[in-house]
Amino acid sequence: MSKFKAWLYRFMAGRRGMDQFGMALYVTGLVLYILALFTRFGILNLLSLAMWIYAIYRAFSRNLVRREKENRWFLAKYQPLKRRVSQAWVRFKNRKVYKYYRCPKCKSWLKLPRHVGEKTVTCGKCGATFTKKA
Ligand SMILES: [Zn+2]
Repeated sequence: MSKFKAWLYRFMAGRRGMDQFGMALYVTGLVLYILALFTRFGILNLLSLAMWIYAIYRAFSRNLVRREKENRWFLAKYQPLKRRVSQAWVRFKNRKVYKYYRCPKCKSWLKLPRHVGEKTVTCGKCGATFTKKA
């Protein structure tokens, strides 16, 4: 066992293993694979396989600079999306307490407690003033 452990340790030296981009490839591949099972689109199967192979290749790659660059590229795309989804989830959870709407000028999200009637609102971001009913 310890011999195997030592071998594994040597084998993984200089390799990064799974990063966020790798996990995203793996999970997306899994979703495509499940979709392929239900829809019988062969192309989805092929795509999921390609994603898994790429994820494994990345996990065992020794070109850390390149992999890190790919991961940063992925995070730059993924994090704004993640933030938008989590904010949408908060709005959905509080939908009975607050009425949410967008500022007509800068499009940022604003909220009013429900049943306050018509209010004059000043946007905290751009300072635009307008009336809203909640
Ligand atoms: Zn605004």
